[in-house]
Amino acid sequence: MNESVIETRQVTKSYGSLQALNQVSIHVKQGEIYGLIGDNGAGKTTLLKALAGLIWPDSGEIRLFGQHGEKRLEQCRRQMGTMIESSGFFPSLTVETNLEYYRILKGIPGRKKTAEILRLTGMWEHRKKKGRELSMGMKQRLGLAIAMIGEPRLLLLDEPINGLDPSGMIAFRNLLRRLNEERNITILLSSHILSELQLTADTFGFLSKGQLIEEISARDLEEKCADSLLITVSDPDRYAAALDHAFPDERWRVLPDKVIQLFHPEHSPEEYSRLAAEHQILVTGLEHRRHSLEDYYLSTPPPHFPTPGWWPTPSCSARRPWWLPLSSTMNTEKTGA
Ligand code: ATP
Repeated sequence: MNESVIETRQVTKSYGSLQALNQVSIHVKQGEIYGLIGDNGAGKTTLLKALAGLIWPDSGEIRLFGQHGEKRLEQCRRQMGTMIESSGFFPSLTVETNLEYYRILKGIPGRKKTAEILRLTGMWEHRKKKGRELSMGMKQRLGLAIAMIGEPRLLLLDEPINGLDPSGMIAFRNLLRRLNEERNITILLSSHILSELQLTADTFGFLSKGQLIEEISARDLEEKCADSLLITVSDPDRYAAALDHAFPDERWRVLPDKVIQLFHPEHSPEEYSRLAAEHQILVTGLEHRRHSLEDYYLSTPPPHFPTPGWWPTPSCSARRPWWLPLSSTMNTEKTGA
């Protein structure tokens, strides 16, 4: 799972004065599902187009399967299936004929391949329908079938879940998981439906105004979004010692401004307060915290902020995004502490 299938190094693309991509460096590993998250206009499609060779970056480098240089990239792109902007089917042709067209275009021998992909993508029973007669979910599946016909090792899917109803989303998500797990296909998909990506992706790349804000694994994201209890106390050192003694299995850390963060707390808030009282420690704030992916995304620093290493971890104010410096916000919460 460690070999990089996609790596971009400081890829930049401008349209006139508009910088659609600004020094974007992403890393997609072999066998993973990578979710590219960003608002409208963030640059997702532009990045996917650059990877697919549909546009040229102004600067920076693209590596596919460890290869770089345009000639090698062109060869690598034969192992890539794409669904970018439109599903690329002909509305007046049947599903089956559409797929046959792409099979022949790509030089894939045997009609059996078409039947196999129709079955794989759940389009077999709809194979006689014309493109224009398809529902949104079927259109997305046909788009995926077209991307799959060349037996790709890598799929680039631009907003594939867009427009699907909830059951369509679940079915499409399951299909992507199957392709990933059973055929070991690496998938890069973009979306602004964050909760849907949270159920699908192994790694997330947050794109905003052309810049990659953060790349984070699902596990690390889960950790950052974990249930936690934030306790503000008068004496964090003594309270930490008391915690250690009373609840040795608890995981916690000390944050600035006398806040202790307990991960997955096993006891009730009252018990933590009682523990403080027993040690003559004053509790001045207690807050249960859980970030959804939406919260996390909305609190991701805007591009003008300094390097990612600077960002603090979630802290104790629910009223401010966690990326704001702690010192700029804690005054009101600390009154009387
Ligand atoms: P969406 O979610 O709306 O599809 P996106 O994240 O895919 O958005 P892009 O389509 O990559 O965003 O667009 C990034 C920016 O580049 C936008 O401001 C867009 O208007 C601009 N842009 C994209 N293609 C072109 C083009 N061919 N000419 C001029 N500007 C463009």
